[in-house]
Amino acid sequence: MKIAVLPGDGIGAEIIAQALNVLKRLDLSLELEEAPVGGAGYDASGDPLPEATLRLAKEADAILFGAVGGWQYDQLPRAKRPEQAILGLRKHLGLFANLRPAQVYAELASASALKPEVVAGLDILIIRELTGDIYFGQPRGIQKLADGQREGFDTMRYSEGEIRRIAHVGFQAALKRGRKLCSVDKANVLETSQLWRDVVIEVGKEYPDVELSHMYVDNCAMQLVRTPKQFDVIVTGNMFGDILSDEASMLTGSIGMLPSASLDANNKGLYEPIHGSAPDIAGKDVANPLATILSAAMMLRYSLHQAGAADRVEAAVKRVLKDGYRTADIFEAGAKKVGTKEMGAAVVAALG
Ligand code: NAD
Repeated sequence: MKIAVLPGDGIGAEIIAQALNVLKRLDLSLELEEAPVGGAGYDASGDPLPEATLRLAKEADAILFGAVGGWQYDQLPRAKRPEQAILGLRKHLGLFANLRPAQVYAELASASALKPEVVAGLDILIIRELTGDIYFGQPRGIQKLADGQREGFDTMRYSEGEIRRIAHVGFQAALKRGRKLCSVDKANVLETSQLWRDVVIEVGKEYPDVELSHMYVDNCAMQLVRTPKQFDVIVTGNMFGDILSDEASMLTGSIGMLPSASLDANNKGLYEPIHGSAPDIAGKDVANPLATILSAAMMLRYSLHQAGAADRVEAAVKRVLKDGYRTADIFEAGAKKVGTKEMGAAVVAALG
């Protein structure tokens, strides 16, 4: 199993190093090959997504990605900015399904902005379609109207095939979890959403063991903060998912804990923490490596089909939190404050 390891910029190298230590401790034959991406790619070859890096990403069975971006690259033209590397990887690899789990570990329930009893034990998965919808639909633009004022317009579009393939990802993920799928749309107002709902219902007939429900996006935004534990898996379009997945991540209260996956049609994927390159803390050994370690666990589960190894890594993360290890971002009085390396070492030790 070949893994393309793309640490990127800022804290990327520090957090990826800890995830690699965890992966190396598992008894799996993994071929790990590193390449520069983002600002590091630009420094190495004048391109945030160097050709050799893209080739490696295409060849590999999965991609483990740190984060990209940095102040020193902010003045570059848009095409050369580090963030273009992620968009390029999504496009070239056809990564259309974004999976974002939001899990609240009992020990961290008080870090949420919501009451601990509302979020303690929360374990939901939001699946966002990533390559269609109003973000990519044509026509779009800003035009002059007859009366001289400007008008902006975008086009919301989903083909049946696009809806069908993301629905399958939703149902299959639900089968591996609590067997409940909530499809989120705005079918009371939008034609695109009506088609979305019809197609999800059709696909649902192939998954009799999954309980399918539907919710309007405005209600879902409200339910996520009212009783988030009612959900298991949520599947939705690009724009609704963009907003809902950020909302759900904040239920957990800690950006340093949340992993993500972006998958293609064959479950090949790019795995990364949801946070950025955190240039303000780079090189200080204070970044929380757990989101990246949990991203590696998702990689084991979804692309490498090593569910047992994924369970082991997730259990080790729970163990270190239970044992009171905390990086600065999740620190509370009475806990053991540790740096990036020490947190990584604690997870490796907890693997047994
Ligand atoms: P950020 O996520 O990098 O940081 C936001 C805040 O969270 C900072 O205070 C940071 O110190 C803290 N933080 C982030 N990750 C942490 C961790 N693992 N442990 C402890 N604290 C952590 O977002 P930003 O500051 O808005 O962006 C910084 C750079 O990252 C920008 O160049 C941005 O474009 C880029 N970015 C990249 C990605 C990506 O690579 N996928 C995603 C978001 C932002």
